[in-house]
Amino acid sequence: MPQQNGVLIVTGGSRGIGAATSLLGAERGYAVVVNYTNNVAAAEQVCARIHQQGGEAVAVRGDVANPADVEHIFQAADRLGTLTGLVNNAGMIYPAQRLDEMDNDRLRRSFEVNVFGTFYCAREAVKRMSTRHGGNGGAIVNISSGASKVGGGGTYLDYAAAKGAIDTFTVGLATEVAAEGIRVNNVRPGVIETEIHASAGDPGRVQRMVSQLPMARAGTAEEVARAILWLLSDESSYSTGTTVTVSGGRAILP
Ligand code: NAP
Repeated sequence: MPQQNGVLIVTGGSRGIGAATSLLGAERGYAVVVNYTNNVAAAEQVCARIHQQGGEAVAVRGDVANPADVEHIFQAADRLGTLTGLVNNAGMIYPAQRLDEMDNDRLRRSFEVNVFGTFYCAREAVKRMSTRHGGNGGAIVNISSGASKVGGGGTYLDYAAAKGAIDTFTVGLATEVAAEGIRVNNVRPGVIETEIHASAGDPGRVQRMVSQLPMARAGTAEEVARAILWLLSDESSYSTGTTVTVSGGRAILP
């Protein structure tokens, strides 16, 4: 596996869509920073698989909601080489609640991880990639959700609105840095088979949704990763500020 594409940071790269992105990124020639918060074993397993294939990867613990941790993640990337890609994938969902049941800690944390984390990481990436700061350009891919189009009423208004912020952030940052060599795009997954549903206290969610999906199946993390890698690559060189929906034909779910 030749290291020809520079360094790629995948936040939340230890499991699910992030793990698939880390693995495919390494296959495509990136040295990968596999960020995680808690599950060190999963992060190290992803790195071990990359090393077995002859690639380069390092697991870096850090909460994207914490600016000091984000600096640490980017410093780890600097030690590997030139940063060329960032995937703002880390995200989380709380168990289903109505707004009148949500406490302040939930609301704050939901936006800190899903929105501020993306802002903090993108800010560090721009400082390194932008020609305005002496960089050579690069690509940022944010991860939104079909929830941003539905609103999450009765279940996770906080998560859906946070992902709506990511849709808007993508458009705005893309225009801000378009002339500085940086492309910023968005992937909007639908229902994808990962552990996020069980982590949110609803392990049966994917199975329940399948009958409402045109393809009658959930997506895989690898199918999302392929869209992400396309947006990172020069194959998408004239695309910025755009969203690729990976939802099996239906972005809007009840
Ligand atoms: P997942 O399987 O639950 O994995 C989440 C990953 O994010 C893990 O690697 C986790 O690290 C990491 N993470 C969580 N909070 C973090 C934080 N504060 N700082 C750094 N890393 C953190 O999730 P997934 O389903 O792959 O989701 C990935 C992204 O896709 C999320 O942004 C999610 O909102 C979005 N998405 C998912 C679906 C879906 O159906 N799965 C649909 C639409 C959008 P640890 O291993 O250390 O816990």
